[in-house]
Amino acid sequence: MTTSPILVSACLIGVRCRFDGETKEDPRVLKLAGENQLVPICPEQLAGLPTPRVRHEIVEGRVLSEHGKDNTEAFQRGAEEALKIARITGCRRAVLKARSPSCGKGEIYDGSFGGRLVKGNGVLAERLIEEGIAVATEDEI
Ligand code: SF4
Repeated sequence: MTTSPILVSACLIGVRCRFDGETKEDPRVLKLAGENQLVPICPEQLAGLPTPRVRHEIVEGRVLSEHGKDNTEAFQRGAEEALKIARITGCRRAVLKARSPSCGKGEIYDGSFGGRLVKGNGVLAERLIEEGIAVATEDEI
């Protein structure tokens, strides 16, 4: 029996797509590649945002840059593009980067850019969960 491919945050497998132009390569996620087909996506790049880019956090449902610019629509667009890729490739599971305003699941930064966490999901994680795709962070695999 073949298992469905896994959508993964591209930064977790070594792609330099983070806001600071770096990666968050994680050996736990790379290990999944041995037995599963991984489909890497970065919703913020799919949204057309530059790399590097300013940091964003979610405040009362809006995605704001650290300079106060409301980029909610861009983040939603990127999430839709990533969802499209998940559908085309048949992903029913996702492993996404913890705490990101796009990819975080269960807890995200609180919008103060001070490193504090609140309960909540990033824009992509929320969208995938709505679609019935099982989402885990790298800390949960
Ligand atoms: Fe990684 Fe997601 Fe941020 Fe892209 S949007 S850098 S995939 S955490």
